[in-house]
Order: sequence, then structure tokens, then C-alpha cells
Amino acid sequence: MSVDRPRVLVVEDEAPQREVLSYNLEAEGFEVVKAVTGDDALLLVEEGLPDIIVLDWMLPGVSGIEVCRQLKSRTDTRNVPIIMLSARAEEIDKVRGLETGADDYVVKPYSVVELMARVRTQLRRTRPSTVGMRLEYEDIVLDAETHKVYRNDKPLKLGPTEFRLLSTFMEKPGRVWSREQLLDRVWGRDIYVDTRTVDVHIGRLRKALCQHGGGDPVRTVRGAGYALG
Ligand code: CA
Repeated sequence: MSVDRPRVLVVEDEAPQREVLSYNLEAEGFEVVKAVTGDDALLLVEEGLPDIIVLDWMLPGVSGIEVCRQLKSRTDTRNVPIIMLSARAEEIDKVRGLETGADDYVVKPYSVVELMARVRTQLRRTRPSTVGMRLEYEDIVLDAETHKVYRNDKPLKLGPTEFRLLSTFMEKPGRVWSREQLLDRVWGRDIYVDTRTVDVHIGRLRKALCQHGGGDPVRTVRGAGYALG
């Protein structure tokens, strides 16, 4: 399943640049969604929240700056990191001055290697499990690189769905996730799964986390969903 992979939205009107960038991101293991215009980009964000956006400034129609400004002013989209691309350094200075809220800026022509590094830097902050980081919560350790989970230094047996549920929880301990949010994050939007399936896998995760003893760290929040801690 592709939902482990970070979803990158590439917004670039120039086809060769869009393709080179997408090719390299896919080679790095990212899922790439492509948009040619600012309007396309805004529509695609409605269809499914990307983990990060690489956004060209100069686009036909709605400009990259405007897309950035709109997404950063909305509570549901403001936490998605945006890396802004621009043709000249002076333009970047101007974008910074406009306070669009972009998280990073890259001047064209850029080195693809450097851009990849910047994408990973942003994801380390917002989606650490997708870039192979080690997450810790109390006595639980999740190693996203090796896909192993330990509690109290003892390895835990965990199914792939339970692993994704746990990595989602461990990225933001304490955050309450609704069943719909968990479906979107863990199963993906394209697949129809009943919300009761979430409850089934939460049950399995709880069992797996307690297989060597220890308390149940997953909290049921009535009428809202689930949280870790
Ligand atoms: Ca352009």
C-alpha cells in the first residue's frame, strides 16, 4: 500500500521541470501528485491533503504566491509545508517580504539533490515516520527505517496496518484522531473502508502493544476518536 510514502504535490507549469522533479521524487520513494496551474493545485489539495507542496511562483492564472497565501491562511491546510520555487533570487526576496508563510524558498535553477534534502528536512518536522526516523513515546520505540517496534526494549509483533496506526499516533502523541482522519492517513482516501474497521485494528494494536505486559497507552475519546496518551 502506498500510504506509508509521503505524498508530494508538485506545482509547476513547465513540463520538463515538472517531470524531472517528479521523476526524482518518485525515485526517492515519494508518491507524487502533479499540478500545472494554481487552480489545479487548490483542487488537488481539496481531494487529499499532501504531506508537502513544492510550488512554483510563476504559474498561469492563480500565482504560486496566492496559492501559498490561501493555504497558509486556512486551519486545515496551514501545517502542510510549502517549498516555494522562483526563477531569481530577487523574486525570493520579494516573496519573503510578502509574508506568504512559505516554509522554505529555492532559487531556480536548483540542484535536485539539494531540493530533495530540503523536502526531507520539512518532512522530518511534520511527518517524521515517512522519512525513516526513530520515534519514541514513553517506553515505546518505533524505528521507521527498519519497521520495528519495541516496548521496554522488547521487540513487538505488529501487522502492517497496526504499524501505520502506531506511527501516526507517535508522530503526535496526545492528539485525538477521528476514525475518518485515521482512515485517510492509514488506509488512504482511495480505498473504501468502514469506520468500524478502525476499531478492529485499534483493538489489535492495543493487544500488540501489551504483548509483553505494560498498560494500554491508547486512549478512547468518546465521540471523538483515539489518541496515544
Ligand atoms: Ca513557472
